[in-house]
Amino acid sequence: MADTFDVVVIGAGPGGYTAAIRAAQLGFKTACIDDWKTADGKPAPGGTCTNVGCIPSKALLQSSEHFEHAGHSFADHGIKVGKLSLDLAQMLARKDKVVRQNNDGILYLFKKNKISFFNGRGRFTGGKEQAWEIQVDGDAGASLIGKQVIVATGSEPRALPGLAFDNRLVLDNAGALAMPDVPKTLGVIGAGVVGLEMGSVWRRLGARVTVLEALPALLGAVDQQVAKEAAKLFAKQELAIELGVKIGTVAVEKGGKGVSVDYVRADGSAQSARFDRLIVSIGRIAHTAALGAESVGLALDERGFVAVDEQCRTNLPGVWAIGDVVRGPMLAHKAEEEAVAVAERMAGQHGHVDFNTIPWVIYTSPEIAWVGKSEQQLKAEGVNYKAGSFPFMANGRARALGDTSGLVKILADAQTDRVLGMHIIGPMASELIAEGVMAMEFGASSEDIARICHAHPTLSEATKEAALAVDKRALNF
Ligand SMILES: Cc1cc2nc3c(=O)[nH]c(=O)nc-3n(C[C@H](O)[C@H](O)[C@H](O)COP(=O)(O)OP(=O)(O)OC[C@H]3O[C@@H](n4cnc5c(N)ncnc54)[C@H](O)[C@@H]3O)c2cc1C
Repeated sequence: MADTFDVVVIGAGPGGYTAAIRAAQLGFKTACIDDWKTADGKPAPGGTCTNVGCIPSKALLQSSEHFEHAGHSFADHGIKVGKLSLDLAQMLARKDKVVRQNNDGILYLFKKNKISFFNGRGRFTGGKEQAWEIQVDGDAGASLIGKQVIVATGSEPRALPGLAFDNRLVLDNAGALAMPDVPKTLGVIGAGVVGLEMGSVWRRLGARVTVLEALPALLGAVDQQVAKEAAKLFAKQELAIELGVKIGTVAVEKGGKGVSVDYVRADGSAQSARFDRLIVSIGRIAHTAALGAESVGLALDERGFVAVDEQCRTNLPGVWAIGDVVRGPMLAHKAEEEAVAVAERMAGQHGHVDFNTIPWVIYTSPEIAWVGKSEQQLKAEGVNYKAGSFPFMANGRARALGDTSGLVKILADAQTDRVLGMHIIGPMASELIAEGVMAMEFGASSEDIARICHAHPTLSEATKEAALAVDKRALNF
C-alpha cells in the first residue's frame, strides 16, 4: 500500500533538502528521497555539494592554505615552525568529518521538520495529476504517491569522450578530493571553478600543476580586469595555465603509473605531457538516469536537462524541477533559492528568484567573487556606466592580514548611479560580495554604499572606497 504525501522531493542536495524543509514549514506532508551513502552504507544527504563539492573542497582549500601559510608566510609574522611536514591522511580525515557533520545536520533537520526521509533511489512508475507514483529502490524500498513532486536530482561530472573516470589516475571531483598521496605532477583539463580550486589545493600541497583550457581567455565570464589580475597572481603562484589548447589523445599509460595527454597549443605546435594523475573538470551533465522520466513523459531539453519554465514547472502538472538538473548556473545557492521559491509557489505564494543578483565565487587564493554585470557585458549592451575600483594594497586590514593582492570594483549606471555590478578579487571576496548582492537587491546607488559607515579596519572598507571611486573621490588611494 503506497503512502501518500503532499510533496515528494527526489534528491537531497542543497536544492532537494531545502525544498523539503520549506515545504514542511508550509504545512505540507513531505517526503524526501536520496540515494547517497557513506562508504560504510550510512545515509549521506546533502548531494554533490555536501559530499563531493562545495563543502569538502572548501575544507581542503582551508587546510592547504594553512599549510602554505605555515611554509611561506608565518616567518614574516614572527612565527617559527620546525620542519614542516604534511599529514595528508589527517587532512582528508578532517575533511570527511566536516562532510559527516553536514550530513548529520541535514538528517537532524529532516527529523525536526517531520520530513519522511528515504535513503534509496526514487523513480517515477506512473500516475497522473495529484497522484504521481514513485518507487524507492534500495534498502529503504517503498512505494509513494506524491500529489506534487520536486525533481532535484542534480548533476554528475562530464567525462572526456573515450576516457572513463577511474578515480585512481583519471579523476572527477570525487577523486580529486580524495587522492591518497600528493602527485608530483598533476594535470587538470578545464580551467573552470572546479579545475582552478582543485588545482590550487594540490599545488599548495606540493604538486606541480598544469591546467589545460580550450578557451582562449582565462575566466571568460569574469570581468576582464579581474580575470587579468587573477592570471597574474596564478602565474606568481606557479599554477601553470595553458589557454587555447586543443586536447588530442588522452590515455592511461601502459603499466598504469600515469596519464599521457597529447594536445595542440594555441600557437599550433603539438605538445605531449605526462602527469602522475589527471583531473578532468570539463563541466557537468544533468543527472536524470534511473529517474523513470520516460515512464511518465517528463520532458528533457536538448541538452538533457529537465525542461522547465521560469517558475521551475515541468511539462507535467504538479511536477517541478530545480537546481543543477535544470537550466541556469550550477550553484548550490541557486538550487536553494529555486527550492524555496517552488515550495512557496506550491502553497500559492509568490516565490521569486532573481538570476541577475546571484553571486558567483571562485575560492582560489585570492578569492574571486562577483555579482551583476561585468564591464565587457555593459559595453556589449551599450550601457553608459561609471567604474570605480580600490586596491587591497591601500586597505589597512589587508596589510595587517598580510594579503594585499587584488581589488574591489563597482560598476554603476552613468545617469542613475544604480549599482550594476560588483567584482572582487582578494582576501575574503566570498564574504564581501554579500554587500554587492544586497545593494543590487535594494536597487542601491554607489553613493548609497559610499555613505554607509563601514567598520575600521575591515576589508569591507575597500568596498566603500570603490564606491567613492565611482565618483572619483576615494579617500585612501
Ligand atoms: C568540486 C565542486 C565544488 C563546488 N563548489 C561549489 C561552491 O563552492 N559553491 C556553489 O554554490 N556550488 C559549488 N558546486 C556546485 C554545487 O555542488 C551544485 O550546484 C549543487 O550541489 C547542486 O545542488 P542540487 O541539489 O541541484 O544537486 P546535487 O547536490 O547534485 O544533489 C542531487 C542529489 O540527488 C541524488 N539523486 C540523483 N538521482 C536520484 C534518484 N533518482 N533518486 C534519489 N536520489 C537521487 C544524488 O545522488 C544527490 O545526492 C561545486 C561542485 C563541485 C563538483
